[in-house]
Amino acid sequence: MTKTLREVSDLAAAGLVAESELAKLAVVAEKYSIAISPHLQGLLQHEGIRRQFVPDVAELISSKNELTDPIGDQTHSPIKGLIHRYPDRCLLQPVTMCPVYCRFCFRRETVGQGSAALTAHELNACYEYIQQHPEIWEVILSGGDPLILKPKQLQQIITNLDQIKHVEIIRFHTRIPTVDPHRVNLDLIKVLTQRRPIYVVLHINHPAEFSPAALDAINMLADNGIVLLGQSVLLKGVNDNIETLSQLFRAMVKYRIKPYYLHHVDLAAGTSHFRTTIARGQELMTQLRGTYSGLCQPQYVLDIPGGAGKSPIGPNYLTSQQSGYQIANFNGKEHFYEE
Ligand SMILES: *Cc1c(COP(=O)(O)O)cnc(C)c1O
Ligand code: SF4
Repeated sequence: MTKTLREVSDLAAAGLVAESELAKLAVVAEKYSIAISPHLQGLLQHEGIRRQFVPDVAELISSKNELTDPIGDQTHSPIKGLIHRYPDRCLLQPVTMCPVYCRFCFRRETVGQGSAALTAHELNACYEYIQQHPEIWEVILSGGDPLILKPKQLQQIITNLDQIKHVEIIRFHTRIPTVDPHRVNLDLIKVLTQRRPIYVVLHINHPAEFSPAALDAINMLADNGIVLLGQSVLLKGVNDNIETLSQLFRAMVKYRIKPYYLHHVDLAAGTSHFRTTIARGQELMTQLRGTYSGLCQPQYVLDIPGGAGKSPIGPNYLTSQQSGYQIANFNGKEHFYEE
């Protein structure tokens, strides 16, 4: 197991998919990229990991509300590689490749397809756009997975962004530390520590992702003073029960990653087998709040289809009354609060 699995035939040879499903999986593979890194291949005995990365014939089922651009990236993309939806921050996507392809990816129609990286010319156009928008305080490098770029290329991007005075914060969204941890090396650390602050948001969905190699990568980032946050997707059959979810957030906190967002799974095509109801998500959030440390509480959010942005959709504890408020506490007892 030394190479990334990319073809259905590779998956069959590794005994990961049934012979009887090969024809249908070939259709899946034509629509959506497949990649399972050597590191993850060693963790596939965990159902919660296997399900995230091994393609499933259920991906051919499109349910009625699913969309090719579920969170409306295109409606807010003024130029190629840049999405500017909120006033004070924008996403820069220097690359649309990932070391692995998640079966529920919200950008599954664009990642792993076509030309992978922005050209120097396209990147310059992005810098120019950011320069011309002084309201942009933060640039979020996303993708694809930006940490798949060579440290030298990342260095160049950071240097260019640093020349734009109003950009104070640089943030990376990545899955690499847990799915391809050997990419986190001293060259990368050097790039990520050359300017402060840099925030790194790690996409982690299951506690079994904290393998020894992943922990080495995470510790290397944290030991070098990089602020780490966690984002997770609520996925049916992966983490939609309180035991797994609490283990996931406790592991994050233990390894110095503050849980930031729990995403309701987006309406990407062929992902209905991963979708829980929002009511179920709220129930899990109530259980989390009822028992676990405040440090273990992410915000449960929905990216509104069409491009309207993210909104919190967690349980509501407060109801307005005539002379004040009724408020529930962590264990569900109602209290009256008068202003
Ligand atoms: C999610 C997202 C962000 C980041 O939002 P935060 O709430 O600041 O984490 C920024 N831009 C776009 C287009 C996004 O989808
Ligand atoms: S790492 Fe992110 S962008 Fe890449 S496939 Fe997974 S969800 Fe999609």
